[in-house]
Amino acid sequence: MHRAVYPGTFDPCTYGHLDIIERAAKLFDEVVVGVLRNSAKTPLFSTEERVNILRKVTEGIPNIRVCSFDGLSVDFVQSCDAQVIIRGLRAITDFEYELQMAQTNRVMAPGIDTMFLTTSLQYAYLSSTTVKEVASYGGDISHFVPPLVAENIMKKISGAL
Ligand code: ADP
Repeated sequence: MHRAVYPGTFDPCTYGHLDIIERAAKLFDEVVVGVLRNSAKTPLFSTEERVNILRKVTEGIPNIRVCSFDGLSVDFVQSCDAQVIIRGLRAITDFEYELQMAQTNRVMAPGIDTMFLTTSLQYAYLSSTTVKEVASYGGDISHFVPPLVAENIMKKISGAL
């Protein structure tokens, strides 16, 4: 079984993340989307909420599994019996950090490779942070996230969730 892990914060997932997930699902037998529990960032959504949202928006893709994890990505990848880490690259600003992470992971776990998928052009500008900022000022986020995600962001911002 050729299995990959797509780790990230996904706070919340955007059409950019979904594009990477759909494309990775075509390249591997199974893709495990790993939602990082102990992020240095303070997330808007709890880990369970991020996992539930991802499960719902990916339910049409049979070879996707969504789990949360703690600690090092390489440990999680090994525990999933996967061989590849998937990351998305949007712009040159992502590159330096991603290269450093990939090289660090390669030293820690030489059996695991990082594969970068370049973002589709229509999502190159998109980040979870921007989406939350636009939403907090009452802007329309329907171009950036699926309807379910937009609904959940609005509920969070209004204090209903
Ligand atoms: P992290 O905190 O690990 O960067 P994110 O949820 O911000 O978690 O991102 C997870 C992965 O998805 C990263 O590889 C990031 O570069 C990628 N990504 C984020 N937004 C996009 C996008 N719009 N298009 C393609 N990849 C993206």
